[in-house]
Amino acid sequence: MISLRLKRLKIRENAIKISRRTIQIIAFLLVNYIILEIILPINLIGFEGIVKVLPILNSPRNPLSDGSGILEYIFFSMAEGVFPFFLLAVLIIVLLLTNRIFCGWICPIGSIQDLCAAIPTKKRKFKISTHKSLLNIKYVIIIITIIIIFPLGITKNANILFYNDFKAQIGAFANQPIGFFSLSEYIFVFFPYVFENVIIPVQLGALDFGGWIIFIVYILIIILSVFYPRFYCRYICPFAAVSSAVTDFSFLKLARNPVRCVGRSECGICEEVCPKQIRILEEPFDFFTGRGECNFCLECKEKCPYDAIIIKFGNV
Ligand code: SF4
Ligand code: SF4
Repeated sequence: MISLRLKRLKIRENAIKISRRTIQIIAFLLVNYIILEIILPINLIGFEGIVKVLPILNSPRNPLSDGSGILEYIFFSMAEGVFPFFLLAVLIIVLLLTNRIFCGWICPIGSIQDLCAAIPTKKRKFKISTHKSLLNIKYVIIIITIIIIFPLGITKNANILFYNDFKAQIGAFANQPIGFFSLSEYIFVFFPYVFENVIIPVQLGALDFGGWIIFIVYILIIILSVFYPRFYCRYICPFAAVSSAVTDFSFLKLARNPVRCVGRSECGICEEVCPKQIRILEEPFDFFTGRGECNFCLECKEKCPYDAIIIKFGNV
């Protein structure tokens, strides 16, 4: 009987893992369809418009992208003095219906971080107080961005001279505010630029001091992702900041069965495996989102030996 139950749990674990990895690989290849063209002898130019514009943090400068992420469009629209009602509504509705499945199953930057975390090293956790303080970084980033971009949009309609001056002072930030905090931007645009123009021809002076700082910070973020899974998602990603404010209200949620869950003292495996360091067992049985931090990767559900984690939609 016990071995039958273990077998069932193993099948469920593998089904979730295989489905998630398959979707992540397909999404990565579609978003970065040039990789598909390199692997296969095909020309996907006709599909450019369909596969390139997915809601990731791409900036318009990304050579692999025709457009940018939805958040970049939202801020760009604000900077142009047009309040992005439609885009915000789309984003909120998608988050309410799908929680953060996008982050856990589709986002190519999430997949890159999962790849980093798959490097066999001892995984580490921050002290809870440190973790909680670090979580605020992404909210500070988004608040500062709003504080700069929102008035820019207002001045466009109110005082064009002031607007032009303000825009000139904040430079490229006005055109791609999210791109400045996008790991996607750095991996696909900045790093290739640095390797091609600075490191390979050994012209280290071709990058200014600020450029080197940014380069080192992002290399550090990638290295930290090897030891602290989803480091960038947890602490820096602007999309995570916006979505975590909404997903507590999502119809799609994870819950814990109070009859099956045996708690931390006897088990606690869900918390051990959670790549976002969420204290699942301190949240109500009804639903848990780790204050919107959960990215619905389902690793806790995969590994729970008592099948106590349930996916809920609405009150079902
Ligand atoms: S892994 Fe499952 S049974 Fe164990 S503590 Fe977590 S929810 Fe409860
Ligand atoms: S709580 Fe579960 S689904 Fe959410 S991030 Fe952690 S392991 Fe993934």
